[in-house]
Amino acid sequence: MLDPRDLAPTDFEVHARALGANDLAIRRLLSAVVGQGIHDRGIWGARFQVPRRLFEAIRNPLPRLILERAETSPIDGFSKLLFRTVDGLAVETVLIPLHRPGAVSVCLSSQVGCAMGCAFCATARMPRRRNLETWEIVDQLVQARERVRFEGRRVTGAVFMGMGEPFLNYDRVMAAAELLRCSYGAAIGAPAITISTVGLVPEIDRFTRERRPFRLSISLGAATDAKRAELVPIAARTPVAEVMAAARRHALDRRTRVMLAYVCISGRNVGEDDARALGDLIGDTPVRLDLIDVTDPTGRFRPPGDDERKTFRDALSRYVGQPVVRRYSGGKDIQAACGTLAGLA
Ligand code: SF4
Repeated sequence: MLDPRDLAPTDFEVHARALGANDLAIRRLLSAVVGQGIHDRGIWGARFQVPRRLFEAIRNPLPRLILERAETSPIDGFSKLLFRTVDGLAVETVLIPLHRPGAVSVCLSSQVGCAMGCAFCATARMPRRRNLETWEIVDQLVQARERVRFEGRRVTGAVFMGMGEPFLNYDRVMAAAELLRCSYGAAIGAPAITISTVGLVPEIDRFTRERRPFRLSISLGAATDAKRAELVPIAARTPVAEVMAAARRHALDRRTRVMLAYVCISGRNVGEDDARALGDLIGDTPVRLDLIDVTDPTGRFRPPGDDERKTFRDALSRYVGQPVVRRYSGGKDIQAACGTLAGLA
């Protein structure tokens, strides 16, 4: 059975054409299940507008993630949605209010659990269960959008920074991102869709080679192999210099800046030596260094204090010749911040 949310638009087109659909029918179907976000009604509404064979080939009814809980932080307006999959697994999605009034970005999960084992991340401590299907990724955004629409807000961006390493679920993540950007899907501009990785070089190169139009973010953890081995142990099996070389290939090929996410941990990776190592590593590669305070409910890792952060920023300004920004990781009070998603009901 076909699910229009399970295939990239181009692949769906191939299947639909084989069943007699024309351009208009394909657009109507995709628009009904992704664009409008009305699943069964959308399909039934489209019934008389698409070839009968295609309509009968569509999975009926289309499954949905079950929304189990929604929470909004009274402090900063970040929201977290806890979904349950058809097979009973927990998936979390975060709604990030943007500076532009009414605009929201959605942080999507791509796996249940994560095998990368980052020391500061709650998802790493969950049992690693499985990759999410394309429709399960798309449905997070569709349901988030239905939710904010009632409040007069709009989803204008998506980041693949929720539970899981997106590049370990490459094909489904790319199919989902293509559905999110296509004009009769969710119509989110490609530059407003960011794919994040902890630094899987073959997949970064594939992403570059395939000329995917989305933004790339690489989570470094630390600038030396020794520190990365402590903080992002699986990713650190690849030397950080190779990760940066892949980032450079991408940046030069696409004439863009790669975002480097750097989780700041007091006493661990925010010293003068870390700033110098970052400068040596980055060199003249076009990147933007995003500093994010660690959030670790276990208390094992603490964010830098004001003085430590200022000293680190000063050192970065001496050693790193690329833009450095501090990124806010919100929703700490509802366990929605980076590194705290653990599927807890
Ligand atoms: S930070 Fe990302 S890559 Fe690392 S364990 Fe958590 S979800 Fe996985």
